[in-house]
Amino acid sequence: MASLQLKHLYKVYPNGVKAVNDFNMTINDREFVVFVGPSGCGKSTTLRMIAGLEEITAGELFIDDKLVNYEEPKNRDIAMVFQNYALYPHLNVYENIAFGLRLRRLPKAEIDEKVNSAARMLGLTDYLKTKPAALSGGQRQRVALGRALVREPKVFLLDEPLSNLDAKLRVSMRKEITKLHNKLQTTFIYVTHDQVEAMTMGDRIVVMKDGFVQQIDTPKNLYRYPVNKFVAGFIGTPQLNFTDATLLKEGDKVKLSVIGTNISFDLPQESLINVDPTYFDGKKIVSFGLRTEYVSLKENEFPYSCEMKVVGVEELGTKIQLFTDFDINRDVLDLSSDDEENAKSSLTITVDSDTEVKLGDIIKVYLDLDKLHLFDEATEEVINPRIPTHGRVKASVKDKNIKLMNINFELPEAIELADGDYDVYVPSNALKRDENGFKLKVYKAEDVEGQYLLTFYQDGNALFMLSDEKVEPGAEVKVSFETHLLDFYRGEEKVVASLNVLNELDGMVYYHREKNPDGKTVKVLDYIFNEDVVLPCFNQSAYQSFILNKDRSVYDLDLIFKFYDSQIHIDENWPFVGEPVRLLDYGINKFLVLKCYDRELVVKVSNEEELNINGPIHFAIDVDAIQVFDKNKKIRLV
Ligand code: ADP
Repeated sequence: MASLQLKHLYKVYPNGVKAVNDFNMTINDREFVVFVGPSGCGKSTTLRMIAGLEEITAGELFIDDKLVNYEEPKNRDIAMVFQNYALYPHLNVYENIAFGLRLRRLPKAEIDEKVNSAARMLGLTDYLKTKPAALSGGQRQRVALGRALVREPKVFLLDEPLSNLDAKLRVSMRKEITKLHNKLQTTFIYVTHDQVEAMTMGDRIVVMKDGFVQQIDTPKNLYRYPVNKFVAGFIGTPQLNFTDATLLKEGDKVKLSVIGTNISFDLPQESLINVDPTYFDGKKIVSFGLRTEYVSLKENEFPYSCEMKVVGVEELGTKIQLFTDFDINRDVLDLSSDDEENAKSSLTITVDSDTEVKLGDIIKVYLDLDKLHLFDEATEEVINPRIPTHGRVKASVKDKNIKLMNINFELPEAIELADGDYDVYVPSNALKRDENGFKLKVYKAEDVEGQYLLTFYQDGNALFMLSDEKVEPGAEVKVSFETHLLDFYRGEEKVVASLNVLNELDGMVYYHREKNPDGKTVKVLDYIFNEDVVLPCFNQSAYQSFILNKDRSVYDLDLIFKFYDSQIHIDENWPFVGEPVRLLDYGINKFLVLKCYDRELVVKVSNEEELNINGPIHFAIDVDAIQVFDKNKKIRLV
C-alpha cells in the first residue's frame, strides 16, 4: 500500500531528448493508474523513473511522503512486470516464482507459503512443476506476475505486460489483472499504448503525447470532457473524427457551417455558452467531433438533421459501422488505405445489422449537436471546455466609468480607457466572492469535482467563476473583479493588458557549510540573485534538488527565479533594492513596479502602507517560495 507524488518530474536523456516534461500527479493509495499514449510519448520513461531504473533529471518523486529520487530501486519497495517476461527456462514455475525469495534467503517454509498463495491467486497451482516451455503465453505472463506478487511490494509497476499476447488472451488477462488489483489492494501503475486497455482497467488514466501529460482523469471524464483534439481522438471506440467548420453569431443563434459544403445548423448561443465569442466571427476555423451515440438514422431521434453520404461500410456482426461524410460529392473511402486522411470520414454511425444502407447512399442523419466537441483548428485545444478559463464580455466606457453585465463601476486609476466600446477578457480567477461587491445572478451552477462552477449570463455575455460554496441557479451572489487581471480589447487590438504578476530574476545556487546548534556541520543552500544578493534557502524541495543531487553541475547552471507579486513585499531590512518606476492603483489592489537589475518587478502593496517612492526601495522576497527554472534547458527544478 502506498501513495505516490510526482512533482515537476522531467527526464532529459544525455542526447538532449526531453522524454518527460513537468509531470505532476498524486497517485492515491490502492489506485489503479494507467499511463497511455502512442509509442515514444514517455510512458515507460516515467515508469522507469518511478522504479529507480532511470535517473530523474529534475523534480521530486515521493512514495508515502518519502523522497525516493536518490533511493536504489531495491529500496523503493516496488515490483515491476515487463512486456518481455524473462523466465528462467531451466527452472519450473515454482522455482521461477521463488527465485527472488531464495536470493533473499528467506526461510523455506515462508517461501513455500508465499509461492503457493501466489500460485492460487493466479491459477497456477497445477503448473508449479511445469517448465516455461510447456506453458502458454498467458500462463507465462502469470508466472511473471507471481514473481512480482511474492515480493509483496507497496507499488506494482506493469509495463505493457499484455502486448505479447493474442487478442483473446489479452481480454481475459485484463480481467485477471483487475481482479488481482482488487484482491491485493495495492497501488498499480500500468503502462499501455492501447486505449481500450486503459479505459477498461484504470481508476484514472494519464494520457501522454510527445513527453507531455495531456490530461489526467477518470475514463468517463476523459471520454466526456477531452481537453484537446488528441485526447478526444485517442480515447473512445469508434475513434472520434473531426470536421472543419466556422461559427457565426446571428442574433441569439450561432450558425455552424461545415466547410466545403452547403450544410449549416443554427444553434442557440446558450448551448455554446462556454465558447469564447471571438470564435463566432464566421472566419476562424474550428474543428468539431460528435460521438457515435449522438448520431442516428432514426427519424427525429435528435433535433438537428442533414443529408450525408455513406462513404464506408464495415460489418461488425450484430452491428454495422457506417462512415458518413457531410460532403455528398466525396468519393467512397478505401478503408484498407494507409493514408489516414483518405480513410477518414466526418461521422461514424453504428447501426443495427438489419439497416438497409449501401455504400454510396445519401442518407438523412439526425444529430444531437448539444454534445459537440469543439476545438481550435490551430492549437487543437478544446474551445467548449468543462471549466472555462475565462469569459469575454462587451463593455462600454464613459467618463472613466465602465458598464458590463449591467454593472456600473468607476475604472481604477491604473486602467486608462477612452470612451467607447470594448471587449473585456475576464479570467475565471478574476472574479471573487465579496460581500461588498456587485450582485450577479447565477445562471448555471454545476458541481464539478466538489467545486461549483458558476456561470453568469446576460445577452450573450458569459462570465465564470469557481466557488467552494454550493449556490443554486437563480441565486444572486456578490462578487468583485480583480481588475489587474483583465485585458481590454478594441476589436482585435489589446488596448490595456493585464498586469503580469509573475516576477523573474536571474540567479544561481551554491551552498556553504555551517555548524548547527548541536555542533554538527550541515550544508546550507544559497540562492544568488543576479550575482549580487546571497540568501539561504530552506525549502525542502530545493535542498533535495541541489544538495542531494549527485550531479555537481547543478551549481554551474544559469537559473531563473520566479515569484508572484504576493511573495515579495517592501521591507527596509532586506538587501534587495529597486528603483520605483510607477505605482498602479487598481482599486482593491495596488501594485508598485520596481526596476531591479534591468528587470521590472511587480510588488503588491497594501492600501494602508505609507510609501515613499522618491528613492530606492528595499524589498523582501519569500525565498522558500521561489520557483527555480533552468534557463537553458527551460525545465523547472524547484
Ligand atoms: P513510450 O514508453 O511511451 O513508448 P519511452 O518512454 O520509451 O516512450 O521514450 C520516450 C522518448 O525518449 C522517445 O523519444 C525515445 O526515443 C526516447 N528515449 C527512450 N530511451 C532513451 C535513451 N536511453 N536515450 C535517449 N533517448 C531515449
